[in-house]
Amino acid sequence: MSRQSFTSCTPSIRLPGTLSFPSRTFSACARLRIGSPAWPKQPAAATISDNQIATLAAKPLHSLTLADLVRHGNPPLSTEALFSSANFTLSLLPIRLAHRIQALRNLPFIVVSNPHIARIYGNYVHSLSTLLPYQERRITTLEDESRFTEVMADLVQTHSNTIPGLARGFMECRKYISPAEVTKFLDEHLRTRIGTRLIAEQHIALHLSSHPHSPGGVSPTSNVSSTHVGVIDTALRPAEIIRHCETFVSEICELKYGVRPTVIINGQPDAQLAQVPTHLEYIITELLKNAFRATVEHGQEREPIEVTIAASPSTTGSPPVTAESIKPPQSPESAGSPLTSDESIPCVTIRIRDRGGGISPDILPNIWAYSFTTFGEDEAMDVSNGNLDALNTISGAGGDSSSLAGLGYGLPLGRAYAEHFGGGITIQSMWGWGTDVYLNLRGLGKNILVTD
Ligand code: ADP
Ligand code: MG
Repeated sequence: MSRQSFTSCTPSIRLPGTLSFPSRTFSACARLRIGSPAWPKQPAAATISDNQIATLAAKPLHSLTLADLVRHGNPPLSTEALFSSANFTLSLLPIRLAHRIQALRNLPFIVVSNPHIARIYGNYVHSLSTLLPYQERRITTLEDESRFTEVMADLVQTHSNTIPGLARGFMECRKYISPAEVTKFLDEHLRTRIGTRLIAEQHIALHLSSHPHSPGGVSPTSNVSSTHVGVIDTALRPAEIIRHCETFVSEICELKYGVRPTVIINGQPDAQLAQVPTHLEYIITELLKNAFRATVEHGQEREPIEVTIAASPSTTGSPPVTAESIKPPQSPESAGSPLTSDESIPCVTIRIRDRGGGISPDILPNIWAYSFTTFGEDEAMDVSNGNLDALNTISGAGGDSSSLAGLGYGLPLGRAYAEHFGGGITIQSMWGWGTDVYLNLRGLGKNILVTD
């Protein structure tokens, strides 16, 4: 099969940049319940030329930090801060979408003409076209900001099924593209997507918090929101997320195997740090699913899964980061400066230890590849199961239904989420005995806290 690039194929079969889309039957705004029932009319989506895509894709990607996202959400959220969040969002998203469009176009033509992948390509072109009308001007009115938030809601909704689509598409194309190429593409794609989605969701969440009386808005007196800045919980307690995910995973484990191992949490269960709860829910759910499955399949369901939480000294010694203590940006240039040089960044390490027999040496090199699974073939294609993607789930760790394993995305995607804000996942297998998984999380450094 020729490796003709997507941009050089014949016009009759090429997906044009001006792809037209049917109107969406499902309103993202209704799902997110943003603002008033009557939205201001959006400007028509622009058509995009190849040149526009190439120009945007040539610009460098801004690497996102937790601080970037928190800075715009200092409560009480002023109208100026909301505009500044919208304009910050607008400065990042078109470039990110154009990079993804370019990467999809660079796939072998046979791959990108697969219906699942072609649909995803179309979604990216659509989303970029809805943002272009806002590119020429800054957002300075509440009406524009509301319209823009609706565009963000549409973007989040449009891309909510990307992961099952990519999984299915690449599975169908596996004859035409090597596993290494798939992993390289998916890793880059899914990592960028984590940030893109987060940027959009953060602006939606800030919009909601500034409209406390709208149906989806957050009351300023609500306890739930007291430590939240948009989608970030500045005082997130991993132990609470672990218990929440344990309930969900135990239920699907019992449904599948008729038994459920117990989970012990020890170490420093009071540790807290700034994190995106949906990301941590995704990671913990995937790691617990793996531990539960291995434990039961190894016949050790009486052996508890031990989760140990350890906080770095700066996490336990310093007061919790609060939304009020976040310093506003000094200058536009300072926004987004990497936090990696700050030694005061709080870290929390979570070790998940199971007695599930470990991972055999011949399997171990493959576990980080997308689609690699040792789960039954029949269930491997069940890509409709829950928890496919942290940001797809609106409430809780999982969807309506879920299976304990099978897609082969749990570890690589979990690691991508962990690494997004400077953390990571490492695995230590004791073949014949069990597995230790170390999840490292990094919160917000003191360099963005008010110190005077
Ligand atoms: P999936 O769970 O869908 O198979 P993952 O990416 O979560 O995909 O894991 C890939 C593979 O790694 C699993 O199929 C399993 O063989 C192995 N694995 C992961 N975690 C464990 C564990 N705790 N114990 C034993 N094997 C594991
Ligand atoms: Mg798994």
